Amino acid sequence: MLETTNINITDAEWRIMRVIWALDTVTSRQLINVLGDSMDWKPATIKTLLRRLSDKGIIKSKKDGKKFIYSAVMDESRTVDLASKKFFNQVCAKKVGSAVAYIIDESELTQDDIDNIQSKLNQKKAVESINCNCVPNNCDCD
Ligand SMILES: [Zn+2]
Repeated sequence: MLETTNINITDAEWRIMRVIWALDTVTSRQLINVLGDSMDWKPATIKTLLRRLSDKGIIKSKKDGKKFIYSAVMDESRTVDLASKKFFNQVCAKKVGSAVAYIIDESELTQDDIDNIQSKLNQKKAVESINCNCVPNNCDCD
């Protein structure tokens, strides 16, 4: 079962996942066709990445004759949300606000995106202060 709070996908695995989400189901042959040349990956590399994704519970496979058909366990936007959340859990709680502001500043956003972010901000209840959760005496947060 996928440990959704501990989602851990490497850069190479994201490449595989984006193809799987786009195509819904894939065989390793299809992935080799789509990514083999552009990523300069050997078939064995793609098979290794599929095995790792499978071991992590991010994809599932079912047997169809001699081949395996792979599909994602979770949809793309949920996975992106959880991976983003995991990233922000790794940094000091005091740094999250400015990192979110930076991401907004650096991202291309449609009017719909901006409306969505604005409405989230309008509903957001501010906390009075945020406690640093760095290793004690090993940061310059305060
Ligand atoms: Zn801190």
